[in-house]
Amino acid sequence: MKKNLILVLNCGSSSLKFSLIKPENGQTLLSGLAERLLSEQASIKIKYQVQTTQTTLQSPFDHQTAIAKLVDILVTHELNLQIFAIGHRVVHGGENYSMPTIINEEVKNSIDELSKLAPLHNPANLIGINASEEVFLDTPQVAVFDTAFHQTMPSKAFIYGIPYALYKDHGIRRYGFHGTSHYFVARETAKTLDIPLDKSSFISAHLGNGCSVSAIKNGKSVDTSLGFTPLEGVMMGTRSGDLDPGVIFHLINELGYTADNVSHLLNKESGLLGVSGISNDCREIEEAWLRDSNPRAKLALDVFCYRIAKSIASLSASLTSLDALIFTGGIGENSNLIRQCIIDQLSLLNFHVSNDKNALCRFGQSGHINTDNSRNILVIPTNEEWVIAEQTSQLLSNKNSSKV
Ligand code: ADP
Repeated sequence: MKKNLILVLNCGSSSLKFSLIKPENGQTLLSGLAERLLSEQASIKIKYQVQTTQTTLQSPFDHQTAIAKLVDILVTHELNLQIFAIGHRVVHGGENYSMPTIINEEVKNSIDELSKLAPLHNPANLIGINASEEVFLDTPQVAVFDTAFHQTMPSKAFIYGIPYALYKDHGIRRYGFHGTSHYFVARETAKTLDIPLDKSSFISAHLGNGCSVSAIKNGKSVDTSLGFTPLEGVMMGTRSGDLDPGVIFHLINELGYTADNVSHLLNKESGLLGVSGISNDCREIEEAWLRDSNPRAKLALDVFCYRIAKSIASLSASLTSLDALIFTGGIGENSNLIRQCIIDQLSLLNFHVSNDKNALCRFGQSGHINTDNSRNILVIPTNEEWVIAEQTSQLLSNKNSSKV
């Protein structure tokens, strides 16, 4: 049987997302999500062909159990025999990893070492890698890093205005995240506009639970809004985005917060959730505004959109031309309200929204949403899994052909 499929794994601390993908065209044969791992409510949902099945997991409720269940299903449908390699999404690759990389002990040690820069993500990614290695014994495993695409940022974009030794000795700099998504939508937009990616100039807004805006010149990231951690930049679902660091001193010195309390506040209790007091879910906040005229919902949406518009405008400083503004991610792909609110604040950059086109581009529908007299504005559904599958496959094919 031909081995031509890539299993893409995205492992979080209590979740595991997976997709089985044909790398040449992005076709997804099987996908799913294991949730609430490490608790007795652990369950796994698997979509194969037209059927979705959900099952509870048995003790010990961990990532290994979820992967074992996934393997059962793969074996039932004889899909395991077609897996060529496993591609892992790894959040932080630091400065050493600007390309997809075949996982070996040294790479695992580096991912572990980089956990100090991404304590919420890299340890979970490593758990997924170890669990998958135990099951898929001789199958090559590749790491695709979320920071890699932004390694092309010039130093003026990634250096903070703090003593240089903190960068040199401790790696404190801006790294950026969501790289795989920004790369994918830039490439798709270049195709749509029929311009070569290496002669294009875009600003992309990835708006999901986490949000970031990137400037992409000639297919390379030149600046992005997320920084040393995924806390910098625009406001997000539960993360604050930029704030005066003085607020942190005030919380600690005057209000009795510990460093851990502050971290929890800014990562988990802020953003849309913190401002609205309703939810971190954009749909619920939109509903609270449109249905109930809830003023805090309106305030949260206003702050969210204004900060994103400001970020788009400020990132234009890193470009000399601009072919399109791109929206992606759960909010960017689905919320015409948020897109309109952002675009309405960017008329100085000659962005104007067409209400009709904007209303059409939702739920997976891509396309232009600008008026005729505006710069291009596109909605492009992201597909990070496809990029991971493609890069995993390309890396291993290149390696095999260079052996010949
Ligand atoms: P993640 O960053 O976890 O991958 P997603 O990209 O799936 O998240 O985005 C989740 C966000 O997308 C949530 O805030 C959700 O409310 C929002 N979203 C999804 N569908 C809609 C919709 N139809 N209208 C508004 N917001 C939506």
